[in-house]
Amino acid sequence: MKRPYNFSAGPATMPVEVLEQAAAEMLDWHGCGMGVMEMSHRGQEFIAIYEQAEADLRALLAVPAHFRILFMQGGGLAQNAIVPLNLSRAGVVDFVVTGSWSQKSEREAHKYASEVNIVASSADSGFTTVPPPASWALSRGASYVHLCSNETIHGVEFQELPDLRQLGSEAPLVIDFSSHVASRSVDWSRVGLAFAGAQKNLGPAGLTIVVVREDLLGHALPVCPSAFDLRNVAEHQSMFNTPPTWGIYVAGLVFQWILRQREGALSGVAALEQRNIAKAALLYDTIDKSQLYYNKVAPHCRSRMNVPFFLRDESRNEAFLAGARAHGLLQLKGHKSVGGMRASLYNAMPLEGVQALVDYMQEFERTQA
Ligand SMILES: *Cc1c(COP(=O)(O)O)cnc(C)c1O
Repeated sequence: MKRPYNFSAGPATMPVEVLEQAAAEMLDWHGCGMGVMEMSHRGQEFIAIYEQAEADLRALLAVPAHFRILFMQGGGLAQNAIVPLNLSRAGVVDFVVTGSWSQKSEREAHKYASEVNIVASSADSGFTTVPPPASWALSRGASYVHLCSNETIHGVEFQELPDLRQLGSEAPLVIDFSSHVASRSVDWSRVGLAFAGAQKNLGPAGLTIVVVREDLLGHALPVCPSAFDLRNVAEHQSMFNTPPTWGIYVAGLVFQWILRQREGALSGVAALEQRNIAKAALLYDTIDKSQLYYNKVAPHCRSRMNVPFFLRDESRNEAFLAGARAHGLLQLKGHKSVGGMRASLYNAMPLEGVQALVDYMQEFERTQA
């Protein structure tokens, strides 16, 4: 039986090989007589799983040695508090607001920072663009600058991270890269801290990845919960409290799957990036050439991962979705705050899935004429 293509924004489609391996090892991991869910996080079996996952993630994202990789719980939204608790020093923080997720982060930061500045916002455009970095009104002496490098709901992606030093700011850059982590390379020379919930591109919900420059640790506010103090988490190798063991294990299988990917001479994330460019181009081209569908985002910042699109005749939305389901194309309904449709094209979505989607879209458009 052929599996349908799942375009969910998250939790999202997984590589079938990973699901099969997790299923095969469910009752007995590598002959130890226990499934991973049943293991102590302090036992040698799980420590081996954890260490391999950390090393593989470091390799595939090319994370430099002076950054720590932390496996936490709480998701992206908890990071909206954990980051200011650890980095704000109760001072000034800067936000670039380009969609729902950076807006949520900005609102949460008010609880912990003495001053929260929105240094740029694309709200006036309906979050369809990224304000040019040269226009950002960065604060003097900010504790950090936060942006969401891929806005999952509005479909807006930074194609390049800003160089804050070049813009006159000494502040570390914080990125929420939840929905495009491992879909493209990261320029770590421009980043202080990056966080991502796993449930978009890395594995099951319940695991959060934090990559943080070592010198930023150790400045948590006194009120910061011990389990959320990043220095404490780092000093305990992410085992100050029980980490999300199942999530780390499955994400580890995804990391190995990513490392196995090849595309011509490219491998790993670079191979996936190449594929992601082709997948996104196929869908955006179809939308742009059509009389029925449209996308509102400025072409230079359209997301490769999340593609919101609309039908010019909105009364056909339900028929479009019902037909999609009948063609084995699942979870295409847009986010409730934006409406329309959204196709998420994460790493685990093959080009064939996007081809099936555009074939269906063209067929649907023809039958509307
Ligand atoms: C999904 C998502 C989140 C939310 O993560 P939770 O795990 O629900 O807390 C945060 N930021 C971005 C960019 C996301 O896509």
